[in-house]
Amino acid sequence: MSVLHHLCILGSTGSIGVSTLDVVARHPGRFVVHALSAYTRIEALAAQAARHAARVVIVPDDAARARFVAAWPVGRPLPEIRQGAQALADTAADPEVTAVMAAIVGAAGLPGALAAARAGKRVLLANKEALVAAGGLFMRAVREHGAQLLPIDSEHNAIFQCLPQTPDRAFAPDHPAPGVRRLLLTASGGPFRRTALEQLDSVTPDQACAHPNWRMGRKISVDSATMLNKGLEVIEAHWLFSMPTDRIQVVVHPQSVVHSMVEYDDGSVLAQLGQPDMRTPIAYGLGFPDRIASGVGLLELTRLGHLDFEAPDLVRFPCLRLSLDALGQGQAACITLNAANEVAVDGFLKGRLRYTQIARIIERCLNDSLKWKSSLPGSLDDVLAIDARARRIAADFCQTAF
Ligand code: NAD
Ligand code: MG
Repeated sequence: MSVLHHLCILGSTGSIGVSTLDVVARHPGRFVVHALSAYTRIEALAAQAARHAARVVIVPDDAARARFVAAWPVGRPLPEIRQGAQALADTAADPEVTAVMAAIVGAAGLPGALAAARAGKRVLLANKEALVAAGGLFMRAVREHGAQLLPIDSEHNAIFQCLPQTPDRAFAPDHPAPGVRRLLLTASGGPFRRTALEQLDSVTPDQACAHPNWRMGRKISVDSATMLNKGLEVIEAHWLFSMPTDRIQVVVHPQSVVHSMVEYDDGSVLAQLGQPDMRTPIAYGLGFPDRIASGVGLLELTRLGHLDFEAPDLVRFPCLRLSLDALGQGQAACITLNAANEVAVDGFLKGRLRYTQIARIIERCLNDSLKWKSSLPGSLDDVLAIDARARRIAADFCQTAF
């Protein structure tokens, strides 16, 4: 059996990273693990690197390097240990690498994902924040460097699967696919879809992270509870499929079985269904254009009985409305939306903010950003500068009681 891909997995110790290695382990001889990276779970990284014989690992600093060495099995040769944020981008562009899984959480994942696109790799994009912060820049890099961009976010992976499968299909289209009327993006509604509005003020991080259908990292779990995640995904879909916002509809579908749909001009609606398990889109991206086993069980439709759909409630989920506002305002507003959310969610997870303050902080930051004279960010440095400014302002808002 020939090797399909030499992989670099950025964020290998997270929920997506672990699921990726689970799929890889099901196909001995098909994938070579070139590089793995972690930020905090360094002992888990050592175990992964030993198990998958990674040639390179990337850690944030000296202390993490020392932890990695201490956790490494005695007697085995150490992999090459690289260090720092720049090493993430450099390794994504290593000549040996053919495919990069971009699975770092937040805008911190942008430089690595962008480097992979610029090096013309197959980019398996889980890190949606990269597209929210730098959609235009990122898609241009994919186009100009002939990268293969495969969405891993389950909704976008579903849409990718349901779009016309023509031989000349572009990985970074600059116009909507012909014959397509709308993209229908499904959303579970998260754990607070039916919670009394007056109780939302006092929900805890653990309640917010208890997603009814998906097991994910804590940041995206909170985003799913606020539905900011669906807002980020509308922006992601806008860039990935070159689709105007008014042709992307969000549909709440509590069972998370229909992962998203494409509506055609003739009235046909194509949907992709499956268990809510990220190993399906990951296996799709790893094996593309072939279908490979993912370890995901069968979808027993007769046991499900029914599938429900409803319109999203923008009063309950103000973050969804704020995301659509930001997309209308432009790139600087989208960077601000994402950065303010990252700061606010971190504050909430650390017990410093209430759940309902997340939306208020984002709204304040977006209002504030209208005052700035931001020109269209044309480079990664421009994006990172706007991101840093938005984080400072969000942190200030978090300090002031309101
Ligand atoms: P996670 O928190 O479980 O893992 C994040 C990974 O990123 C970890 O390996 C961590 O070490 C690394 N990391 C965190 N901060 C970093 C930094 N500053 N620098 C370098 N590395 C850093 O997150 P996750 O749930 O696996 O999500 C990863 C990405 O995939 C997110 O962008 C998320 O929106 C997206 N995504 C996740 C799911 C899911 O089911 N988990 C579904 C769709 C999309
Ligand atoms: Mg998703």
